[in-house]
Amino acid sequence: MDCIFCKIANGEIPSKKVYEDEHTLAFYDLDPQAPVHVLVIPKEHMQSIEDEKSEGAAKHLFHAVRMVAKELELADGFRCVINTGRDGGQTVGHLHIHVLGKRSLKWPPG
Ligand code: AMP
Ligand code: ZN
Repeated sequence: MDCIFCKIANGEIPSKKVYEDEHTLAFYDLDPQAPVHVLVIPKEHMQSIEDEKSEGAAKHLFHAVRMVAKELELADGFRCVINTGRDGGQTVGHLHIHVLGKRSLKWPPG
């Protein structure tokens, strides 16, 4: 399948890894929106949170987010974002959690 995040997960496309386990991979976003901007993905392809498979992946993804927060010392807090579909601003069709940290983030988002 021609999916950029599947290619990152299988090593075809290089990434700057932060955390990896059997189910998930976390790597730095190429276009950071905060001093820390990491993407956490399931290794298995799934389009978005709308895919039923995402329910099973959620536990592993949350674990990886916790490991990233620990590794990158985000003790002051951080934000997780899952852009979904057109209105959600999703540009890559492989489920991913943005983890943003090391600056004070505004609410509501744009
Ligand atoms: P979204 O708009 O929520 O689908 O997020 C996709 C994110 O993937 C964007 O923040 C991009 O900067 C990021 N991105 C796209 N290609 C790569 C890549 N090869 N390595 C790291 N991040 C990427
Ligand atoms: Zn994929």
